[in-house]
Order: sequence, then structure tokens, then C-alpha cells
Amino acid sequence: MSTTPKTLIAGNWKMYKTEAEAVELASGLAASLHGNLSADREVLLLPPFTALKAVAETILGRDKMLLGGQNFYPSSEGAFTGEIAPFMLADAGCTHALAGHSERRHVLKESDRFIAQKTAFGLQFGLHMILCIGETLDQRTHGSVENVLKGQLRLGLAEVNKDEVTPEHLSIAYEPVWAIGTGKVAQNEDIIAAHDFIRKTLVDFFPHCGSNLRILYGGSVKADNAGTILRLDNVNGVLVGGASLQVESFAAIATAA
Ligand code: PEP
Repeated sequence: MSTTPKTLIAGNWKMYKTEAEAVELASGLAASLHGNLSADREVLLLPPFTALKAVAETILGRDKMLLGGQNFYPSSEGAFTGEIAPFMLADAGCTHALAGHSERRHVLKESDRFIAQKTAFGLQFGLHMILCIGETLDQRTHGSVENVLKGQLRLGLAEVNKDEVTPEHLSIAYEPVWAIGTGKVAQNEDIIAAHDFIRKTLVDFFPHCGSNLRILYGGSVKADNAGTILRLDNVNGVLVGGASLQVESFAAIATAA
């Protein structure tokens, strides 16, 4: 029987930071978190590709500090100009990767099918995949949150080999699109309802481990709301954008009681 892994505090640095700035942030975080992170938490940094190797050299080997890629192309290698393959992420020190982030769905127009290919390919390669899902404001206003979440889970996980799905290899991030980068955090009761629905859906899809897969919340998580969010039912971590770009705010989130 699987058990739920550590609470995950993930920082998505998006398209910010030069290599030198990334190293400064990573080393500041490592110093600030050293000895201060509770035993049941781990921290994942998702820098831009150009800073992966330098951040790896700064944090890997430190207790509970992990590195991930924000994206990759679902092929082992080939003529895909501008893309990066999972083995390149692994070579840079990554163990984790995102798929389905709302900016890739909505700005870069990635389809559910492509997200499904990425999720399955990353899992098969051996990366820990974090599949991001979440409704737009319009979908929420029209009462279709559960339909959207179930659809994104069903389609996003359509190509995975169910036997490969374990809490050590797959996490889900619930990120309401209207809460990302807007300063509008979802109400606690909305987070609880969405995570409860996601949990039931995961148990339905993966009876062998659905109750132990991590479900992260993302959307304007800050130092002053992280503690409350992390205590909600079925919240097993947070995915943080803006507030992960400074040592003080991200360290405060990672250590929020
Ligand atoms: C994100 O990038 O996934 C995110 C949640 O961003 P922010 O914390 O800035 O809303």
C-alpha cells in the first residue's frame, strides 16, 4: 500500500532570472531553509532552462531540495527546434517536471492531447510529473468547475500506464486560472471542495494509490496565506509563482506552520 509523500513546496520561476540571479536566489533559499524545514516537507525549484545546471550545483545534495523543469517536449530526441528533451532535464539534475500549466494551456495553446503525451512520456522516462489543472473564471461562473477538473484529469492522464502511477511519480496541482498571478487567492471552502473532488476522481482512476497522490494548490500563494492553505484537507503542498522569486517570501511559505 502506498503512502503520501512529503508536503511539496514548489517554486515556479517562469521566465524570470538570469543565471547569476537564479544562483543568488537558490543559495539564499538553501541557507534560509537549512535546519528550518520540517521533516515532512520538501522544496522543489523550477528555474528557467538556462539556469538549471547552475541551480543544480547550488542546491542538489542539500537535504530536501529538488530541481525540476517547467516544460519539455515528449520525445527522446530529434529535430524539434527550440525544444528540450527529458534526458536533458535529467542531465541538468532535474527529477521533476510540470505539464499542463495554465500559461502553457492558455498562452501557448497546448492541447489536452499534447499535455497527455507529455505527462505519459515524462512518467515513462522516470520524471516525477506534476499535472496542473484548473478552471477559468468563466467556467467557474457557469458552474462547471467539476466538469472541467474531471475532463482535464481524464484527458491529461489518458495515456499513462496506470501501473506506473504512484505517489512517488505523480502529483496534481489545482490552479484556478483566475487566481494565478492575480493576487486573488481562492476561498478556503473553494479549495477544499476542489481538492475533495480531485481526490475522489483520483481514487476512482487509480484505486491502488489515488488516496495518496499529492494534490498541490496554486494561485497567489503568499507568505501570509500559505499556512492556512497548507492546513486544509487534501492540500499536500503548494505551487508558487510570484512569491517564489524572493528568498524571504518563498522561505516563509516553505516554513509556514
Ligand atoms: C504559478 O505559476 O503556478 C502560480 C501559481 O503563480 P502565482 O503564485 O504567481 O499565482
